[in-house]
Amino acid sequence: MKSAPFDYHAPDTVEDAIALLAALGDSAKLIAGGQSLVPMLALRLAMFDHLVDLRRLDGLRTIERRNGNLFIGAGTTQATIEASAEVAEAVPLLARVTPLIGHFQIRNRGTIGGSLAHADPAAEYPAVALALDAELVAQSPSGQRTIPAADFFHGTWSTDLADDEILVGTAFPVWEGRCGHAVEELARRHGDFALAGAVVSVQVDESGRVTRCGVGLLGLGSTPERARDAEATVVGVAATDVDAAELGRAAVSPLASVPSDLHASADYRRRVGATLVQRAWTKAVAEALDG
Ligand code: FAD
Repeated sequence: MKSAPFDYHAPDTVEDAIALLAALGDSAKLIAGGQSLVPMLALRLAMFDHLVDLRRLDGLRTIERRNGNLFIGAGTTQATIEASAEVAEAVPLLARVTPLIGHFQIRNRGTIGGSLAHADPAAEYPAVALALDAELVAQSPSGQRTIPAADFFHGTWSTDLADDEILVGTAFPVWEGRCGHAVEELARRHGDFALAGAVVSVQVDESGRVTRCGVGLLGLGSTPERARDAEATVVGVAATDVDAAELGRAAVSPLASVPSDLHASADYRRRVGATLVQRAWTKAVAEALDG
């Protein structure tokens, strides 16, 4: 199929893009890399009279340290993140999940802002943003506001962003000290969205006790999920004393809406999810204790 007809706009500044959104209302849609939106338009799952393209907005492609965070502009492509030594050093979890997103051709066009704003529950970046307590910055005609990742994802393909807001970037906290980070996921084929996945970041003190832990889950709900209760059971405990299998079970047991579809039943996803948390925890802890 072909998309329904639309008018195309390519503003040169964020302010112009926001003014267009304000003027055109809900008949307009932002397009970044197009890797999620274009298939939806082509299948006529979505139809808009106007597309506002963000590709000319160079200001959305910054990667810079700000107040203990790494701020990544929304227009930064996934390929740029994958190749960035600064991202790998400051936010290793983000660097490690990126090669698991689709194929290189997709990452070459797809942006981090598009992935976060699209809010697919099986996407990697939303789970990382949740696990690390990232903060998303949105801009509208009334100025900028900061949205904690915990408040950003409302449901499948649904976020806290208003129709007249553009996501301009995301601040990812930089974890210092003895830290480890790991991602584990299961997909039917290379390049597919994961059936289920887990991201884990852990920090330990000099004696090996867990001082900080973030566990994000993907493909296991209608939004990315954070396993806060499971995280709380390990903080203050010697990392080597944690029962990783039990942590995995604790991470998935509170999940209320694990999807069941032709690819996998909810029960299968739960069991796989628990194992993926167990494996990611084990890897992350090994790295942290080695540091
Ligand atoms: P677009 O498709 O242009 O836009 C997506 C949505 O975000 C639209 O609603 C758009 O209006 C909105 N949007 C974009 N930028 C902004 C902004 N700055 N502010 C506000 N709203 C904005 N993703 C994964 O995470 N993991 C995968 O394994 C994976 N596999 C894929 C496999 C295939 C075959 C394909 C086609 C895609 C896959 N993707 C996967 C999706 C890919 O990562 C997309 O690039 C990403 O979801 C959307 O980014 P984009 O820049 O292409 O956004």
